Amino acid sequence: MGTDPVIIIGSGPAGYTAATYAARAGLKPRVFAGSVTAGGALMNTTEVENFPGFPDGVQGPELMDGMRRQAEKFGAIIQYDDVVSLELGGHTKKVVTGSGEKFKARSVILATGSAYKELGLPEEKRLNGRGISWCATCDGFFFRNKDILVVGGGDSAMEEALFLSRFGRTVTVIVRRGELRASRIMAMRAKSHEKIRFEWNSEVTAVHGADKVTGVTLTDTVTGDKRELPADGVFVAIGHVPRTELLHGQVDLDPEGYIVVAAPTTATTADGVYACGDAVDHRYRQAITAAGTGCAAALDAERYLAALE
Ligand code: FAD
Repeated sequence: MGTDPVIIIGSGPAGYTAATYAARAGLKPRVFAGSVTAGGALMNTTEVENFPGFPDGVQGPELMDGMRRQAEKFGAIIQYDDVVSLELGGHTKKVVTGSGEKFKARSVILATGSAYKELGLPEEKRLNGRGISWCATCDGFFFRNKDILVVGGGDSAMEEALFLSRFGRTVTVIVRRGELRASRIMAMRAKSHEKIRFEWNSEVTAVHGADKVTGVTLTDTVTGDKRELPADGVFVAIGHVPRTELLHGQVDLDPEGYIVVAAPTTATTADGVYACGDAVDHRYRQAITAAGTGCAAALDAERYLAALE
């Protein structure tokens, strides 16, 4: 087994942008894209209207396919496998994949993104795919003329609700607080939509249904009162957790699990290890910011490798 100059873990806008920059610098990066979720979060969305250079918008999967092809064109090696363990200390970094292969690298770029948060209810797993979903783009079609709930008060929840309004008979957004966290424009779009209504100060504390969702129990977050709401589908959009479980003990993480970097660089607390995208960023969480920090991580890795020579 040889030693790669750079291994990149993750295949969202951060990972693929890092790959394009590292490849153009002649570093032949090896990218672990993940076995089932290659392309990252934008694979689950339709129209991306805010990525610069696409005045008419672009479909998320199309954008990610373009980023992958661009990286490959310059020599990035993309492997559709998960990294399941890592050793980031010392000069030679070690990576083991889900298929048991072992790789070594002189530097590593962490671009693992973030994952959907779950409600934490026991029935969530059982009813996953039977009425509970985390992806309106993937599952909205199955809820034509149905009563749909969307849980959450941020931009993702508004985006899901607006998308689902194309299919559902009703779309009800369940919000824990008395107001939305979403940006003004997204909140306005959702609030002014004729099919979308809101249940304020409400938390889903149970989902009903034996083999498919039939409704939920809502608990009032102010009074504690409980009420039942019939529904055919529950879309969970309550935020993200960084995919950094593998990194405990390898690099410093903040209390929420995001990777700590020495801003404005992408340097982690391990020498030669850089981090970018939503695994670092709990403030902006955009494709363009992920791509921007992916670029920075590749440049940081390139400079690190040049200094070793
Ligand atoms: P991600 O896109 O999450 O990619 C990380 C990748 O790393 C994943 O493919 C994952 O499988 C892989 N990975 C993780 N761990 C491992 C491992 N151990 N081994 C191998 N691979 C691994 N942003 C916008 O700017 N405009 C939008 O319109 C927009 N719409 C959105 C719509 C939805 C529904 C969602 C969920 C997000 C949206 N975003 C949008 C946000 C944007 O998608 C994210 O900010 C961006 O994708 C983050 O990029 P990333 O590269 O950091 O991580």
